[in-house]
Amino acid sequence: MDDQKPLISVVVPLYNEEGNVKELHRRILEACQKLEKSFEIIFIDDGSKDGTVKDCEGLSPLTLIKFRKNFGQTAAFDAGIKQAKGEVVITMDGDLQNDPADIGLLLEKMEEGFDVVSGWRFKRKDSLSKKIFSRTANMLRKILIQDTIHDSGCSLKAYKRNCFEDVDLFGEMHRFMPALLELQGYKVGEVKVSHFPRVHGVTKYNWKRGMKGFVDMISIWFWRKYSNRPLHLFGGSGIVLSFVGTLIILWMAVEKIFFGASLSEKIWPLVGIFLVLVGIQLFVFGLLADILLKVYYKNQRRMNYNIKEITQM
Ligand code: UDP
Ligand code: MG
Repeated sequence: MDDQKPLISVVVPLYNEEGNVKELHRRILEACQKLEKSFEIIFIDDGSKDGTVKDCEGLSPLTLIKFRKNFGQTAAFDAGIKQAKGEVVITMDGDLQNDPADIGLLLEKMEEGFDVVSGWRFKRKDSLSKKIFSRTANMLRKILIQDTIHDSGCSLKAYKRNCFEDVDLFGEMHRFMPALLELQGYKVGEVKVSHFPRVHGVTKYNWKRGMKGFVDMISIWFWRKYSNRPLHLFGGSGIVLSFVGTLIILWMAVEKIFFGASLSEKIWPLVGIFLVLVGIQLFVFGLLADILLKVYYKNQRRMNYNIKEITQM
């Protein structure tokens, strides 16, 4: 494999997975060798405090990226992906809940012309509470982001290398990669994959990660709808609020001037002024967001469209 590019890069984040590492490596190796394609294996130690790193010693082939401290699964994926040299990047969890033998399925599906193939844990082997949480999150995602896949929380995914030219991963974003890529026009497919209960180690999933995922989801919703015209959202609602507020104030003025009503005991003048102020704020906010996004696109040399290729005849 030396200086020749490996065709597939398998990227796995590890945080306190000492019981799993060796078996994981063995199974990935086995699966990749079966495919008869060149490959590399990249493990990211996300600041483990147990024997994970030690267990990686002597495994070959392996590229091990060691984080200085625990930065989270998404950061680990990002580092691994940036290190990867393969034409296709496979991501998966390091807890043996995904089956490396499914890599072949992902690749087969990819050959049908997809840029991204996401695993769908058809038969989830997790605790009931986690399943419920995950189902709800998936439903919400369907509504907000309207992507085409069933199970975005499944880490087992295959990406064509060029997918990553357009995204950096932050927060809990790795689970929304297919959604983000779909927004850019990449073709996203799905295959059913196996899922096993966790045998060694403990899950690092908790409500805090769930919350972060939810916030990220809203951010993608915003991005999907308004990333090139935030003023439409903020400015639009700002104008509406200000308008309603102005009407209320006018109405109060009429009551006072023509009917001599006492306003000091009424809530409406307050409501009116509040709405006008909030409206102006929102509008200004929209203007700022607009400027920020223009700077963003310019800085990143990005546009809100994405060119697949340019051919000259
Ligand atoms: N993980 C990580 N850093 C973290 C948390 C998790 O690298 O801060 C890894 C973990 O080692 C595993 C994968 O991310 O390989 C998924 O974690 P976990 O199994 O705890 O999540 P779950 O599958 O329960 O959602
Ligand atoms: Mg897991």
